[in-house]
Amino acid sequence: MTFDLASILRPHILNLVPYSSARDEYTGKEGVFLDANENPYQSVNGQQWNRYPDPYQWAIKEKLAPIKGVRPSQIFLGNGSDEPIDLLVRATCTPREDNILIMPPTYGMYQVSADINDVPIVKVPLTPDFQIDTEKVLAAVTPKTKIIWICSPNNPSGNLVKREAILTILTNFSGLVVVDEAYIDFAELPESSEPPESSELSGSLTASFTNELDNYPNLIVLQTFSKAWGLASLRLGMCFASEEIIKVLNKIKPPYNLSGATQAILLEALDFVETKNQLVKDILVERERLAQELVVIPTVKHIYPSDANFLLVKFEKAKQLFDDLIKQKIIVRDRSKVTLCEDCLRITVGTSEENNVLLEALKKLSEQ
Ligand SMILES: *Cc1c(COP(=O)(O)O)cnc(C)c1O
Repeated sequence: MTFDLASILRPHILNLVPYSSARDEYTGKEGVFLDANENPYQSVNGQQWNRYPDPYQWAIKEKLAPIKGVRPSQIFLGNGSDEPIDLLVRATCTPREDNILIMPPTYGMYQVSADINDVPIVKVPLTPDFQIDTEKVLAAVTPKTKIIWICSPNNPSGNLVKREAILTILTNFSGLVVVDEAYIDFAELPESSEPPESSELSGSLTASFTNELDNYPNLIVLQTFSKAWGLASLRLGMCFASEEIIKVLNKIKPPYNLSGATQAILLEALDFVETKNQLVKDILVERERLAQELVVIPTVKHIYPSDANFLLVKFEKAKQLFDDLIKQKIIVRDRSKVTLCEDCLRITVGTSEENNVLLEALKKLSEQ
């Protein structure tokens, strides 16, 4: 199927003249800068945040591109993944007219972004093992469907989605296909580590789709610095796509969407890929231990295989258990009302000490 970005964009976005910032109009680094109405001296705290930051974060993109195996021009950075999620909806969907397709149970922001923008949602549930029903998805697509959202590893189920299913959607759908890989670091194997048990199917399952960007002009990959990189508080989302799509996002984003402080911290953090990999390894070890210890607790009915940094666990009476845990100030995520997740709690893998606190509480509660 041929992909034509112009026909996917809302007409007024296609023709939009973006705000031109002072830093757009003069890009040199040296000079007497009297163009942006900044304070020329300093910040009130004596630091130097008085100049507007690079609107396109080029220093970061140059450093990030080789880490991700993409070109700098294929990267968009946002204020969390929330920002590209919202920008993609706003760029493509005319309210009350166009729609997006999601596959529950999945990440809540796709629906929230559509709801905020008054964009209708087509829902095609995942199969009971949380894979894509490609036939049903393609049958549910209408001429007004602009975006199909795929989350892999999926939140809240934790599993990777089969690569072949994603490729089938990419090939047979002429709109945008967004693959949200917020948890991909926990699915890819840091060099020289044993494959975690739950990834035994990895032959037929995805690693990152970033290496398919040049093959599929309708592919968009989302990743984040909030999980494996441990930078959730900075609010940093990554979006990878064709140059053409990235240009559109740059055109409609708030001009200085990442603060100078955020950019400075991230630029330094990118030196620590090895530390990130080690943190991922530690979390994967804890994930397997947590799963093994949960299995023997009588109220645990099922632990779903995870390629992420959390476990979806089916309990006897999940809601009651959730409330009992809260009373002990142990907070997990109640997913028991979510499609296909009846009686399920989503448990983030904590530190070894935190996991022990949880396990002890669950053991005690199951003895009552
Ligand atoms: C946590 C998460 C994100 C990350 O969101 P940020 O806004 O980047 O913190 C994105 N997608 C999914 C599915 C997530 O679970």
